[in-house]
Amino acid sequence: MNYYSASMAQLIEQFAKLPGIGRKTAQRLAFYVIGMSNQDVQCLAEAIVNAKKGVRYCKICTNLTDREICNICGDKRRDPMIICVVEDPRDVVAMEKTKEFKGHYHVLHGAISPLEGIGPEDIKIKELLTRLSNDKVEEVIVATNPNIEGEATAMYISKLLKPMGIRVTRIAHGIPVGGDLEYADQITLAKALEGRREM
Ligand SMILES: [Zn+2]
Repeated sequence: MNYYSASMAQLIEQFAKLPGIGRKTAQRLAFYVIGMSNQDVQCLAEAIVNAKKGVRYCKICTNLTDREICNICGDKRRDPMIICVVEDPRDVVAMEKTKEFKGHYHVLHGAISPLEGIGPEDIKIKELLTRLSNDKVEEVIVATNPNIEGEATAMYISKLLKPMGIRVTRIAHGIPVGGDLEYADQITLAKALEGRREM
């Protein structure tokens, strides 16, 4: 039995595809959108389309950006000799909020997971290696998530970088095991950065 018009059902279906949005929330959002002014709906739709169109990978760190080189890589006050490797663009945001880190980043866009069939070639490790062989880098801080995939990725990177004579450290204290960097509070994350260890 279909309770909704075709276009309404379609809108609900699209909302329900988003992460963390169940059927009920999707319905609530759809009704909310219908109640919005034409102009607000237009703005929302355009913001979605423009974000998708405008966003690309930074040529240096592969973080998401509107330009060729992201704000962080383009910031002359930051130290390019230290690179913090993270899994996700959201981890860069979490790390930046601590205001403790003044180096550069490298975003892997995932972690190695044999169970899910994700190998080193599926994430941005090759880009990291290219970068390290071209630029002078003293230290790489591996800030992947402290779960099985994150640890496996950290080990893999460490093994690759050590022969290159680069100091490889891993953030250590404070982050709960099995946790997500993204959800760590600022103090915990700042402490984790402070307590990084050699790999
Ligand atoms: Zn960048």
